[in-house]
Amino acid sequence: MLFIVSTPIGNLEDITFRAVNTLQSVDLIAAEDTRHTRKLTRHYQIRTPLTSYFEHNKIQKAAYLIRLMTEGKKVALVTDAGTPGISDPGYRLVKLAYDNGIPVTVVPGPCALIAALSLSGLPSHEFIFQGFLPVKSAARRKKLELLKNETRTVIFYESPHRIVKVLEDLIAVLNDPPVVCAREITKKFEEVLRGTASDILETFKKKKPKGEFVLLVSFLKK
Ligand code: SAM
Repeated sequence: MLFIVSTPIGNLEDITFRAVNTLQSVDLIAAEDTRHTRKLTRHYQIRTPLTSYFEHNKIQKAAYLIRLMTEGKKVALVTDAGTPGISDPGYRLVKLAYDNGIPVTVVPGPCALIAALSLSGLPSHEFIFQGFLPVKSAARRKKLELLKNETRTVIFYESPHRIVKVLEDLIAVLNDPPVVCAREITKKFEEVLRGTASDILETFKKKKPKGEFVLLVSFLKK
């Protein structure tokens, strides 16, 4: 059986009883970065062996994990933070498990996009998640162009190295929309910046962006 287990996005206490029990009871934990997940397993005294399952070994490792589960072993899939499969390598293993007739279940929990949306104060009855925008400026602007007629709140994951460029693109392509920048959610330096894209850009000109970001854009016309 494959258990898809959500883990904290910052604060180690954000884990469910069922997640801890599952990680304790499976035969193997497949983790994106075993060093990262070891901090969590140590904290909860979970002694289950860990193996790495990440972007660059996913094909060989998936075959190995599928073989183990076909033999009756229980495997938990975790990623560095949040819900496996959401902008991380998780989903391929889930698909392969289904393709091989292996039962799959989920142990739901934290997810950065949902945490950011509830924290944002933006309309949340309808929203779309765009994951990471393209790295190259031309491709990024092209993607943003497609949002010109959008009315739903749009959620992006972004890195601190690119967030300034993305805000500049939002100003140029989408006419300086209202945005929320949720930074380091559940961590010591959690911060929610609200305003137009140019307001947030001003803030980042004074103080260099650091940490993990979720960027939300509101398209609701007043
Ligand atoms: N699977 C994860 C989830 O459920 O949210 C997301 C994985 S994705 C590789 C990592 C991105 O999620 C980061 O670059 C950042 O945009 C966002 N993220 C993760 N943790 C965060 C946090 N504590 N605060 C803000 N953003 C976070």
